[in-house]
Amino acid sequence: MMRIALLGATGSIGASTLDVVARHADQFRITALSAHRNVEDLVTLCQRFRPQIAVIADPACEADLVRRLKSIDVDARVLSGPQGLIEAAQGGHADCVVAAIVGAAGLESTLAAAHAGKRLLLANKESVVMAGALLRAALDAGGGELLPIDSEHNAVFQCLPHGRNSLADAGVRRLLLTASGGPFRGRSREELVEVTPDMACAHPNWSMGRKISVDSATLMNKGLEVIEAHFLFDAAASDIEVVVHPQSIVHSMVEYCDGSVLAQLGNPDMRTAIAYALAWPERIDAGVAPLDLVRIAQLGFEAVDRRTFRCLDLAYQALAVGGIAPTLLNAANEEAVAAFLGGRLPFLAIEAVIEECLARLPSNPISQLSDLIDSDLTARREAQRIIGSLVA
Ligand code: NAD
Ligand code: MG
Repeated sequence: MMRIALLGATGSIGASTLDVVARHADQFRITALSAHRNVEDLVTLCQRFRPQIAVIADPACEADLVRRLKSIDVDARVLSGPQGLIEAAQGGHADCVVAAIVGAAGLESTLAAAHAGKRLLLANKESVVMAGALLRAALDAGGGELLPIDSEHNAVFQCLPHGRNSLADAGVRRLLLTASGGPFRGRSREELVEVTPDMACAHPNWSMGRKISVDSATLMNKGLEVIEAHFLFDAAASDIEVVVHPQSIVHSMVEYCDGSVLAQLGNPDMRTAIAYALAWPERIDAGVAPLDLVRIAQLGFEAVDRRTFRCLDLAYQALAVGGIAPTLLNAANEEAVAAFLGGRLPFLAIEAVIEECLARLPSNPISQLSDLIDSDLTARREAQRIIGSLVA
């Protein structure tokens, strides 16, 4: 029986994970669940999955959670705040941690799970972008394993041979990450001037949380994924390519030196990647419909329109600069996306905020977590100043 701590249980990845887990009650048990502020949904999930630990990230909601769990006779230990998330990630109640919190808020619990040697199922790509080297060190120290759930990285993982020391050793020439192109593929910059948050969140193929949906619309999601691939697979930026594939059926590919290209295909449903990572090295039913290639008929590929969608290049630049630059990129992006979702910033200004923030702040090397957290805060303050000046 694998015991699972699911952090970010009330989100899109959380729901997909619980769906897979519920199909295999003989193999998996949920021992911890977390949510940000949504007490009601967390209580419903606790009633159904009966975890030992329930974490509400916002301490102001803790008393409400305690009261409501008691009123329905659910006997879970209630924790809150960043420390509660860390405890849920590293405690002896779980063998496996699903890191499905969105944004930098997931960093410390992700690192804690890695340090504690858990099987880490990683959806929270922002933590890798912010702290890739520290996460690698934590995994090495903890002796656990990381299984990517981001569909592209899960696909790459599935297409790589295991037990090799390096990509070169395995004969890998390039990683080819596919991108759907998002809801605004094919549009010009003029056509993006007045797009709204709801338009940006209407992804053609995937149903996801609002932050990652906006990232998909700007193509920053693919930029974050390039950085994620660099750290997860120890791949040079020059060996990671992005190709637009509007159907989202080929989830990514690995090209070998003999000219072979291995791809992983499937319907755009995150339960495939989650089931793969939960059961690895075995395979289990994920509840995903079989792929009907005849119905899909066409698989298309095209180059990224880098002039219209500049966030991808900003991410490559941050990776080339190195040190703290990806952390700054992530922080500025989170602030700009939140401002866009809040109706305070136009869509095209997201990239402008990130570019200006990277230009203003020095990129120091990363030595420890506290430096990184300081830089994250500095970048957020700077991004807020830039947003203020843009909308004034
Ligand atoms: P979501 O917004 O649907 O859910 C986010 C979860 O995080 C919720 O449970 C929420 O309560 C929690 N949360 C939010 N802010 C928090 C905070 N400050 N402190 C603690 N908890 C907080 O997001 P999602 O789409 O499920 O994405 C989660 C992560 O997975 C993101 O990093 C995203 O990039 C990644 N991811 C998602 C998908 C997808 O299909 N949804 C695919 C690949 C990767
Ligand atoms: Mg992805």
